[in-house]
Amino acid sequence: MHQDIYETLQKVFGYSSFRFQQEAIINHVLEKKDALVIMPTGGGKSVCYQIPALVQEGVCIVISPLIALMNDQVSALKLMGVKAEALHSNISHNDTDQIYRDLESGTIKLLYISPEKLLSGNLIHYFSTLKISLFAVDEAHCVSVWGNDFRPEYVALNILKEKFPQIPTLALTATADTTTQEDIIKQLKLKDAKTYISSFERTNISVEARAGQKRIEQILQLLSHRSEEPGIIYCLSRKSTETVAERLKSNGINAAFYHARLEAKERSDIQLKFQNDEIQVVCATIAFGMGIDKPNIRWVIHYNMPKNLEGYYQEIGRAGRDGEPAKAILFYSWGDILNLRRFIDEGDATTEFKKVQTAKLDRMWQYASAQNCRTNFVLTYFGEYKSDPCGHCDNCKNPPQYIDGRTLTKMALSGIIRANENIGLTLLIDLLRGSQKKEIIQLGLDKLKTFGVGRMAPTAHWAHYITQMINQGFIKIDFSDYSKLKTTPLSKMVLYENCDVTLTEYKKYQTNSKGEPKKAIDTSNLDVDLLSKLKQWRNSMAKEKNVPAYIIVNNKALEQIASSLPTNDSELLGIAGIGKAKLDQYGEYILELIADHK
Ligand code: ADP
Ligand code: MG
Ligand code: ZN
Repeated sequence: MHQDIYETLQKVFGYSSFRFQQEAIINHVLEKKDALVIMPTGGGKSVCYQIPALVQEGVCIVISPLIALMNDQVSALKLMGVKAEALHSNISHNDTDQIYRDLESGTIKLLYISPEKLLSGNLIHYFSTLKISLFAVDEAHCVSVWGNDFRPEYVALNILKEKFPQIPTLALTATADTTTQEDIIKQLKLKDAKTYISSFERTNISVEARAGQKRIEQILQLLSHRSEEPGIIYCLSRKSTETVAERLKSNGINAAFYHARLEAKERSDIQLKFQNDEIQVVCATIAFGMGIDKPNIRWVIHYNMPKNLEGYYQEIGRAGRDGEPAKAILFYSWGDILNLRRFIDEGDATTEFKKVQTAKLDRMWQYASAQNCRTNFVLTYFGEYKSDPCGHCDNCKNPPQYIDGRTLTKMALSGIIRANENIGLTLLIDLLRGSQKKEIIQLGLDKLKTFGVGRMAPTAHWAHYITQMINQGFIKIDFSDYSKLKTTPLSKMVLYENCDVTLTEYKKYQTNSKGEPKKAIDTSNLDVDLLSKLKQWRNSMAKEKNVPAYIIVNNKALEQIASSLPTNDSELLGIAGIGKAKLDQYGEYILELIADHK
């Protein structure tokens, strides 16, 4: 058995070694035992059920919530010479019939299916007539109300263990806090399940959070160094995806917007063009991404703060799947948190669920304004504990400068008190900075003693300071009174007892690539002309077969080929991502192309 799984990894997938706990998980499944796999996006969860499916008799049933995701996996498997199919509402009657015939004759090794389809008609009964090797429940967090993407139809999947107690079930997800992990095991009725938590740390992603001022300018600055690099900008509203894309386009950037209101055809077009490197930047709502397996996304920007850390980490995890350096920037502001609070408060969820959502939002905000290692903050959230700082987040690379914040805090508090605790953040800053805005004059705030005392600090700096005062409890934000600022028991201690207040200095952001992770593969000998020829060939092949380009051969493999210039089959097999099936199909052509080029 042991030998088989190595051979399959090499021959079918073209990889020379297992990652993290893949091998342990595969062996566990082969012993017919249940397991829960928590592995970050891009970590390599699929192999954990695909290899057991290939080395055993029978068919592996993979439950997956998204059609696009299923189709991609099936095309990728077919290109590797594996017999895989998908069953969902978009498959024609004829094709469905053929799939049933193939299932009966036992030729299909992996069957992807949506939960709706699985639970419809007599399918469960029909499955009991087949030889099934394994059930894999992908995106398993959808089964739990504690998760960030609860789907009621997932709950009914507990029928699998009831009807097929002997068949092992593998539940997989990239996003489950500790409570959700326990709930998945309970909901799916997994037996003595072992939980495998892989490290969530993505060492190739440099993580950064910035106050959300002049976001477009900051983004344009950033893109001026990254004109070729594909990336995603996540926005909170459909409207802002459109306006941000418009601003980028008017600055000559190849950008598009994507949200749930677009026609299905338009959405899949954008997705395909992005996957094939024909669109550089997609400005999107969170509707974009679940189905995307594009390995060379170099950066992900959150134009607004997301509503929880699960979503945030999932979204930045789409960057750098090829293991090469990537960047994640989070913009955050009080405006975001107020909007998100309003969504929750005005939503029609139960009080209980609103509490869960509010607690998750609070954690997100703490993360955004954290002064210590951000990576460790997220890892702790997902149940992984590590004390050494990561070295690839902004707080590690450029630690905050601490300042004595007593005077600043006294100024802010005095402004709040003199304005009768009837003032929000923006107006308070205007008051402190002595602004001549209409509202200030109308409300007579220019007559207050505090008017203009904080002129020395720019608006952005004030926002940064006051945010920290709120986080440390010296000021309170009253969500039940139009988010106005109020004093707290700690306020008095600053005003009358001169207690210590430590704040951090406002940071300027680096826009160059100093301090970013190094490239993982040696491309110092990269032949750029050859690379572009290889890409041209690969892209036309992808068009012909109507699959995303990276499924044919990914960029990392092409870069390696264009650097190491393999001259025969075995050297080509040494490239990560080239397996036996790909060698058979494209090997001759690639070697010829290299020889001609020389
Ligand atoms: P996810 O955990 O998000 O489902 P995938 O299973 O889609 O991740 O894998 C992400 C990428 O990593 C894929 O391109 C996959 O082929 C690659 N991969 C998986 N296992 C290995 C391995 N052992 N060596 C090299 N690449 C691997
Ligand atoms: Mg996956
Ligand atoms: Zn860090």
